[in-house]
Amino acid sequence: MYDNKKMFILGMARSGYEVAKVLAKHNCTILITDMKEQDEEKVNELKQLGINLIVTDKPEELLDNTFDYVVKNPGIKVEHPVCLKAETLNIPVINELEVAYHYLPANTKIVAITGSNGKTTTTTLTYEILKAANLPAHLGGNIGFPMCSLLNDLKENDIIVIELSAQQLHDFYDFKTDIGILTNLTPVHLDHFKTYENYKRCKKKIFNHHTNSDLAILNGNDQDVLDLTSDIKSNKVYFSANKKCDIYIENSAIHYNGEEIIKLDEIRVKGNHNYENIMCAIVVAKKFNVSNEVIKEVLNKFSGVEHRLEFVKKLNNREFYNDSKATNVTSTIIALDSFNKPTILLLGGLDRGHSFDELLPHMKNVKLVVCYGETKDRILDFCNQNKIECYKTEILEEATKLAYNLSGENDVILLSPACASWDQYEKFEDRGDDFKRIVELLK
Ligand code: ADP
Repeated sequence: MYDNKKMFILGMARSGYEVAKVLAKHNCTILITDMKEQDEEKVNELKQLGINLIVTDKPEELLDNTFDYVVKNPGIKVEHPVCLKAETLNIPVINELEVAYHYLPANTKIVAITGSNGKTTTTTLTYEILKAANLPAHLGGNIGFPMCSLLNDLKENDIIVIELSAQQLHDFYDFKTDIGILTNLTPVHLDHFKTYENYKRCKKKIFNHHTNSDLAILNGNDQDVLDLTSDIKSNKVYFSANKKCDIYIENSAIHYNGEEIIKLDEIRVKGNHNYENIMCAIVVAKKFNVSNEVIKEVLNKFSGVEHRLEFVKKLNNREFYNDSKATNVTSTIIALDSFNKPTILLLGGLDRGHSFDELLPHMKNVKLVVCYGETKDRILDFCNQNKIECYKTEILEEATKLAYNLSGENDVILLSPACASWDQYEKFEDRGDDFKRIVELLK
């Protein structure tokens, strides 16, 4: 499909680097542009393959009608001058996944996951279950490994489990999944997509070219998902933790097609949102004939993806959870709704001027709050106004130690800060790592 073509790769990063290597193998003439200088070793490796890298902030000046395709990094906006110029020149804009798709070994099965929330958890869990069943599964996509980087390891009949962002889906044409999962829809990333309609249209591409021999796993309790997918041709399986669907919760257990698969108390992670992620993974597992024993074994151990309501440790009968990924109030609400036990909540971080009021109806199990960081004074005011016990500290370490000192047996100590981390950390992963380090040192 892309053999012997002239390719313009916009943006190097990992995906540009990986796709360039694949295209070089297929005798393409390749130009990569990037705004920033790149790792010297990688640049030299590409040079040896005859690939030209130009660092420029005006890449559009290098695009002309001799190019066959633009391969865009998904992080770059669709109205980038190169994309606009490509449109006037009638040059298709694709991405590394679309390229990889055309070079897959025969009969590769693609299981793809998208949605506004729960993508990484569902992807990880699905992969873990298939691996545990000794199936030839590979993990990729938005979760960290460009699909092009998997090509060398793939064999006929292998399974790829990939997380897809709306940005990645935007530039899909031929790409077809065998199983597509849409976890849920809420209006996010509107800075990138301008309208919710555009965003949803991209999400729907996960079901492109589906027939009734392909599977769509859909949130049966999300009206936007139901509306968006009403006309897709796939074989549809609906899940919900809140109402009876094809896969659902009854008598504190997950049931699928009338069969009890697993009891909720055999599942390590908590919360209806996690049960829904698990349901998606179960439907995939069943499609590949994985036994309930293997599913149970994985769900018994799986403690969540790092920094997403991740169980850290039990210490003197207190349970510590790291939900550093909760950088907004909505995510903290989901975390709070996941516990039925007395909870000490660690809140704080970057101050975007956002309100904490929406937390209130979800705080019935919160016995006290310890706040820290840039938002500490506003959190203290919010607690005082609502008669919630609150202690103000400066940094997370002080907050965690104080929370432990104030805790009682059977309490949950939850870092779900409802704020970005950038006042004190470079990224939410660093904040979560720091929390875990501090917890490990507690006596
Ligand atoms: P994504 O990859 O889509 O960002 P993650 O699996 O990383 O999603 O989870 C991020 C956060 O989203 C979690 O900490 C939790 O607060 C929330 N979340 C996870 N799964 C769901 C779900 N199925 N429905 C709603 N919210 C969810």
